[in-house]
Amino acid sequence: MRYAIARKKMVERQIRGRGITDQKVLKAMLEVPRHLFVEPALESQAYSDSPLPIGYRQTISQPYMVGYMTAALELQGDEKVLEVGTGSGYQAAILARIARKVYTVERIPELARRARRLFDQLGLNNINLKVCDGSLGWASEAPFDAIVVTAASPDIPEEYLQQLADGGRLVIPVGGQEGQLLKRVTRRGDHFETENLLGCRFVPLIGERGWADDEN
Ligand code: SAM
Repeated sequence: MRYAIARKKMVERQIRGRGITDQKVLKAMLEVPRHLFVEPALESQAYSDSPLPIGYRQTISQPYMVGYMTAALELQGDEKVLEVGTGSGYQAAILARIARKVYTVERIPELARRARRLFDQLGLNNINLKVCDGSLGWASEAPFDAIVVTAASPDIPEEYLQQLADGGRLVIPVGGQEGQLLKRVTRRGDHFETENLLGCRFVPLIGERGWADDEN
């Protein structure tokens, strides 16, 4: 199979080699053909240790960040997950191999169209994709057992907390546009426990609860 060796090396060196031991995450990353989610001209770099441009000034995240964020959601397999920022669709495809149902939202219609085509091509029929402002979450499908935000938010939108199921986990980069802290919020009834996970740098979350469009 094309790129199978590169993909195995990516998982061994960049993911397992940096301490991610969740077998479901490792298996999903071994299986999902990341090279299909990058622009054809960048295909040979698809398994490299970095984010890559996907057009429209957006990026597919570094493999390690995808693995880290997915592991931080602590999925067991029966969850309903919301992803904000479909981008290339790669993170959603990883989530779809692990969770029961994935809801993913993207504000740029062209990216959403491309991702939807790939989900169909790969037979990932447990993904629901919508073009909208994901800074407000997806209220009509809430509650979610896990929410992952793959764009940088100035703070934690209240909507995400409200749409989290009891015991649910939210993973989100929070901070300025030059750099953020990845946070995990766990809901316990009406209480929310927040942990700081690691420093990161994402493209901005643009929308009502994120950054204004004209700033970008
Ligand atoms: N998860 C993606 C992947 O696997 O390729 C990477 C996402 S990229 C770093 C961030 C994405 O968030 C971009 O595609 C951007 O258009 C999208 N985005 C930014 N603000 C958004 C919003 N309010 N609602 C939905 N998507 C948003």
